[in-house]
Amino acid sequence: MTQHADVVVVGGGQAGLAAGYHLRRQGLDFIVLDADPAPGGSWQHMWDSLHLFSPAEHSSLPGRLMPTQAGETYPDAGNVVDYLADYEKRYDLPVQHGTRVDVVRRDGDRLLVEADSGTWRARAVISATGTWSRPFLPAVPGRSIFTGRQLHTVNYRSPADFAGQRVIVVGGGNSGAQIAADLALDGNVHVTWVTQRPPHFLPDDIDGRALFDVATARRRALDAGRTDTGGVASLGDIVAVPPVRAARDAGLLTAKPMFSRLTASGVRWDDGSRAGADAIVWCTGFRPALSHLAPLNLRGPRGRIPTDGTRSLSEPRLHLLGYGDWTGPASATLIGVGSTARDAVREVTGLLK
Ligand code: FAD
Repeated sequence: MTQHADVVVVGGGQAGLAAGYHLRRQGLDFIVLDADPAPGGSWQHMWDSLHLFSPAEHSSLPGRLMPTQAGETYPDAGNVVDYLADYEKRYDLPVQHGTRVDVVRRDGDRLLVEADSGTWRARAVISATGTWSRPFLPAVPGRSIFTGRQLHTVNYRSPADFAGQRVIVVGGGNSGAQIAADLALDGNVHVTWVTQRPPHFLPDDIDGRALFDVATARRRALDAGRTDTGGVASLGDIVAVPPVRAARDAGLLTAKPMFSRLTASGVRWDDGSRAGADAIVWCTGFRPALSHLAPLNLRGPRGRIPTDGTRSLSEPRLHLLGYGDWTGPASATLIGVGSTARDAVREVTGLLK
């Protein structure tokens, strides 16, 4: 049976909930369809020791501050899951968990949202499916001949899974630094950290709050036609959260340059040097999860969907929320997504009048 809604939000992580908050305030008829069976978006899948890089009060969605966590300046992922579950309930957001959207297609003056448990006809769609379900692995020669274990950030849980092993962590961003620190501080794992460029740590007194300010300033500069400020990359890539700082200060976070290939038993660099490995953890990023939008045929020349803010240029009934700075300043962060969601919902409201 086909159901009807003014707006269907695809994805019920923080971005989908922020959209829901503003849709509710506008009094629109909407539903949020979320593939995960439980609330919390990708936070419920992150590794055991992960902590936010900003304090709770700087990691909040619109309307409600994240409660602080006893004894922790930077809350852990479990705290975020609890916060999002509570947020969903507090604002009585109509989230249907365990519902995966397969495709969105045009159907006259409506968009048809086809999910595994039903079909919705909508006047507008907000896609907020995140990036967690699309881990990116670089094409490095020899990846198929390495006989050890290879995993991505999304599969990493804790050092206990690697006791006594030699592990190579690839990636110079926050995930790479944090996972390398987690393994190195455990003391039972031999860790080699490998990065494409020399790692660039933010000064110790700067955390995620500054990243948000810088991302916002960059977006404003670009919108006003001024020179690109370089954004977050101008500050550094890695937030020195307490475990990263501890590992770095203990001399455990010294990165080697990227190797040129994998061998059956490890990796080899251009100069002929080698390292043996039992496992490789690829902390090499993510891509937006947009396959459900394929029938709309929206991709531009570089594979990205062209947007004005969050609105698709060639399908104005579709908004993209939370995937990164290209849809709003810091819109893939807890604190940043609220204002982008508000702008998206404002546009949707205008469209539906
Ligand atoms: P997600 O949280 O991934 O939620 C997307 C939801 O959509 C999921 O529930 C999923 O089930 C659902 N979904 C996906 N596909 C479909 C489909 N086809 N149909 C229906 N539902 C679907 N940000 C901060 O603010 N502070 C931090 O300290 C911080 N640390 C981070 C550390 C790591 C390791 C990572 C990876 C990110 C971090 N971020 C941080 C960034 C950011 O907050 C997250 O990436 C955030 O989870 C993005 O939220 P989202 O709602 O866009 O996506």
